[in-house]
Amino acid sequence: MKVLVINCGSSSIKYRLIDLRNDRVLTDGEVQRIGEGESRLQHRWTDALGEARQLARSEALADHEEAFRAIEAALRTSGSMSELETVAAIGHRVVHGGEAFQAPALIDDATVAGIREVCALAPLHNPANLTGIEICLALFPGVPQVAVFDTAFHHSLPPQAYRYAIPDAWYTEHQVRRYGFHGTSHAYVARQAADYLQQAPAALNLITLHLGNGASAAAVRAGRCVDTSMGFTPLEGLMMGTRCGDIDPAMLFHIRRATGADMDELESALNTESGLKGICGVNDMREIQQRADAGDAAALLAIDMYCYRIKKYIGAYCAVLGRVDALVFTAGIGENSALVRQRACEGLDALGIVVDDARNTADAQPPFEIQADGGSVRLLVIATNEELEIARQAAACIEGQS
Ligand code: AMP
Repeated sequence: MKVLVINCGSSSIKYRLIDLRNDRVLTDGEVQRIGEGESRLQHRWTDALGEARQLARSEALADHEEAFRAIEAALRTSGSMSELETVAAIGHRVVHGGEAFQAPALIDDATVAGIREVCALAPLHNPANLTGIEICLALFPGVPQVAVFDTAFHHSLPPQAYRYAIPDAWYTEHQVRRYGFHGTSHAYVARQAADYLQQAPAALNLITLHLGNGASAAAVRAGRCVDTSMGFTPLEGLMMGTRCGDIDPAMLFHIRRATGADMDELESALNTESGLKGICGVNDMREIQQRADAGDAAALLAIDMYCYRIKKYIGAYCAVLGRVDALVFTAGIGENSALVRQRACEGLDALGIVVDDARNTADAQPPFEIQADGGSVRLLVIATNEELEIARQAAACIEGQS
């Protein structure tokens, strides 16, 4: 079965055609900077001789519709349209499913209306996700399409974890609660961890750490998520590339009174000028590690803060779960930064979390383990693959329908 995965953002579209018989990527690519003058399209595929090929083009694409047409043209040029004609489903990444969507949903009028209803909760993401859905419905009218929600894996949080201690009406009338995000990635690595450990998901308690430019932690008991660090929006929780993570909300009142900054400026500061970037000026962990190696005090502080926050969440989730079988590191930083893994686990010996330096710094490809002999918690490094998880969930959804 072949599934086309679409991740349609406000100024970019990523796509990947996956053959689920062998999890092979048949073709993939992205369009960036849509509606920003010069857009950039990159398209990759394997030709008839098995050679990896690439096409890169810059052109003005005014909106998502033009961008999808450019993708279609690239697919034709590479001879991939015939593969698309046999596609069994299209899986769309949708950031927010609110309380209504607890699982992938076949896209029909009711699903589109439901996604539109939660747009107010994710104004930066859901409208763009919907645009992608609507254009694909027109472009591929006969193909079943499925919405896969970033929030869905976290629907199993109990009220004590998802409610905020705020006036009740903020929840009952305005849907303010913790939803959690990165659910597709946490779900994928949790299952991969179970496969790696040769255990049923139901037999395992896991802490999964998605450490990329965005970052979040999840406590997973017997395959079900019971707590996660992102909340009403992806701003809460761990320190991230440009997002602040946990803060005292009262600082906003203070900054507003002190500087006159309006809501949009405050929102933008916390989303795009905070986190690692706020502390040391850049959000790329590779560059921050290089600066820290050269003795840059701001870079050293940024790493200290970043790892300290992860450690606090590990401790909290050990308390939530009671027994932890494995800790899973994933995404750009989690998969690649031995320094962050080591610093985040430092001093947690009493919890059974002990990193082995040689295993942690070995140049291994995930999946691999980094715990020291005698540590009771398995420490795993597992590569995430959100597109493959979306393709699998989309396929399972249409199989369930038929
Ligand atoms: P992602 O959002 O998952 O693509 O992750 C992006 C983050 O991973 C950026 O901060 C990168 O600097 C970081 N990253 C990627 N490779 C490495 C590496 N080898 N060492 C440290 N950080 C890395």
